[in-house]
Amino acid sequence: MANETVEALKKELLSDSRNGLLKIDGGEAEKASAYCENYVAFMNACRTERECASFIIDSAKKNGYAEFDRSAKYSCGDKIYFNNRGKSVVLCTFGRKPLSEGARIVASHIDSPRLDLKPNPLYEDSELAYFKTHYYGGIKKYQWTVTPLSLHGVIIKKNGESVTVSIGDKPGEPKFVITDLLPHLDKNQGKRTLDEGVTGEELNILIGSCPLKDGEGDNLVKLNIMKILNEKYGIVEDDFKTAELEAVPAYPACDIGFDSSLIGAYGHDDRVCAYPAFTSQIDAGTPEYTSIAVLTDKEETGSDGVTGLNSAYLKHFIYDIAESQGFCGRDVIRRCECLSADVNAALDPIYADAHEKNNAAFLNKGIVLTKYTGHRGKGDTSDANAEFTGKVARIFDGASVVWQTGELGKVDMGGGGTVAKYLADTGIEVIDVGVPLLSMHAPFEIASKLDIYMAYKGFKAFYEAE
Ligand code: MN
Ligand code: MN
Repeated sequence: MANETVEALKKELLSDSRNGLLKIDGGEAEKASAYCENYVAFMNACRTERECASFIIDSAKKNGYAEFDRSAKYSCGDKIYFNNRGKSVVLCTFGRKPLSEGARIVASHIDSPRLDLKPNPLYEDSELAYFKTHYYGGIKKYQWTVTPLSLHGVIIKKNGESVTVSIGDKPGEPKFVITDLLPHLDKNQGKRTLDEGVTGEELNILIGSCPLKDGEGDNLVKLNIMKILNEKYGIVEDDFKTAELEAVPAYPACDIGFDSSLIGAYGHDDRVCAYPAFTSQIDAGTPEYTSIAVLTDKEETGSDGVTGLNSAYLKHFIYDIAESQGFCGRDVIRRCECLSADVNAALDPIYADAHEKNNAAFLNKGIVLTKYTGHRGKGDTSDANAEFTGKVARIFDGASVVWQTGELGKVDMGGGGTVAKYLADTGIEVIDVGVPLLSMHAPFEIASKLDIYMAYKGFKAFYEAE
């Protein structure tokens, strides 16, 4: 067979699994880079789910979105947002088709793994002051030591007043840290397994060392910290009991690599999908189908809780907008189609053993279409059907979106889940799509600019598809 024939057959019959950077032109690469500059600014402004929610609501308002009003009558082109307790947000643009034809949903999450303060966090030991933490989401605990941390959240005081806390990220502000044992003295620690190298009760944050001057007795460092906090926030120790304070890594997102092709940041999971989900919804104009962006909370702890997607808030929102137009909520839900926009693992060549190369996702090969997640024989997951998978693939191909498929590691190696199954539980057609990451759930995760931009392009194409 002539060589040209072999090449032609390859092109016709085999998958094109080239690096996405070889598939796109220079103009597209520039667009990706410009889009990611805005993404980095978003990441540096938003360290927690609350900060993401208020950023997203502000952006929505600037772009003509009004707060959802159950008694209002909405029509084609109207844009609304629903604020669920300042921790999850739904954006909606009413499309040309009646809502009875269903809606196109992109659902992502804005909570990320972190260290939450315990209700009684403050203590002193050996004349050093600490906060006790309880980690949130799946973390490798040893990764959170000896890294600068900032503190964010709210404190509800006895009189009901809410105090917003954000300290450690702006220039000049102090940061916090969890210490680790020096290698000279780690003979016992060194015998622990990696999993137990640092335990949950050892994740105590160093917050001060200066005793109250002219004081007498114990706990003068703790007392001095409380005095500083009282002057700064007007709080007393009891107020911690009614607070929600989160410690997160205190370094900004930045370019990674000589070629600046990658971005390193805390919280890519899942803000790297949330940012494209809401910016594409804003940019999509008035689509054929009503479009909905969901920026939810509590995914990292299993979607339970009133701001998580295992609660009824999204279903009720859809029921409400359906009823306001005279349709039955159930009929609308039944016709909704959803991209569960969450990250997947990119193959890490240093730990290639965890992946099965033919079905792993790779950095720079575009967004990952993931039919199922779960563990042990597809347990605990929504396995998308071929018809919907094919429909989404056609939408992506039609819009020149670079995409790939990817399983989360080798069979029986571990597993994971997303919000997909909770959407499927309500009767919404759903598939997972998202950006591949290296070092997922670490304090510093890695994503590629091309993949981030393809998430934006892909979600926008899904919103705009006829
Ligand atoms: Mn996620
Ligand atoms: Mn996660």
